[in-house]
Amino acid sequence: MITDRYTSPACPPWLMRFLKQTGLGINKFGMIKNGDSVLLGISGGKDSLSLALALSLRRKWLPISYTLRAAIVEWKQFPIKPADKNAISCFLAELDIDHDFLVRDMFPASFRGKFNCYLCSRNRKRILFEEADRLDIKKIALGHHLDDIAETTLINLCLRGNFSTMMPVQSFFKGKVFIVRPLCMVRESTVSLVASRLSLPCYALACPHHETNLRLRIKPYIKELSRIDPRVREHIFAAHWNINGEYSDYANIAHEILE
Ligand code: SF4
Repeated sequence: MITDRYTSPACPPWLMRFLKQTGLGINKFGMIKNGDSVLLGISGGKDSLSLALALSLRRKWLPISYTLRAAIVEWKQFPIKPADKNAISCFLAELDIDHDFLVRDMFPASFRGKFNCYLCSRNRKRILFEEADRLDIKKIALGHHLDDIAETTLINLCLRGNFSTMMPVQSFFKGKVFIVRPLCMVRESTVSLVASRLSLPCYALACPHHETNLRLRIKPYIKELSRIDPRVREHIFAAHWNINGEYSDYANIAHEILE
């Protein structure tokens, strides 16, 4: 079992760094507590698979107990190859995480017009909410990391005229369900290292809407900014808790400028 291979004393430093940073985010934002049930949204990419590993190892090492279950949304339009499905199933079984493939329509019933990654993500989130409700689970963990959060902030700031991001803990339906992002303090480079050193069974869909992903287009700009300050992602993240309250008196002006 992969979790037996990486018991605490035998854990290599690069993996330990990843786990500690994940733990930092979990603890700082009070994401997962003793007795919680957590539904993991698995996309098949390095982020969600690394997250599955981290939560499974933490469950084994720490004196707290929580249940993990995974959901993999499979679009009818882009079926996952049987070999990839098998590899994911074996990996999750090694982590002792029960899982389901949710085969669904990529386009929501209300969909009209041009499809893009943003709509796709919203649809996926809706499916995960339904699954959490079916299983009576109140926390959904997603694999968004620090780079994703910084990219979302810049997209919203530069292209949508607002200052917001994907928060580490987000409440939905008046607190009925929470989305938690345990990798919120982990850099993408750290996640990539873990995924490649452990040969995690990542797969990618040959989806033609790939180029509508704004995140990919904003990434080079953050990389460029990190040449000025390597901690630019951390600064963008921290800015969400460092807002000058005096400006809130002028909130209505923003709407006028954007009209
Ligand atoms: S690339 Fe395709 S599957 Fe991936 S988020 Fe975009 S629309 Fe969805």
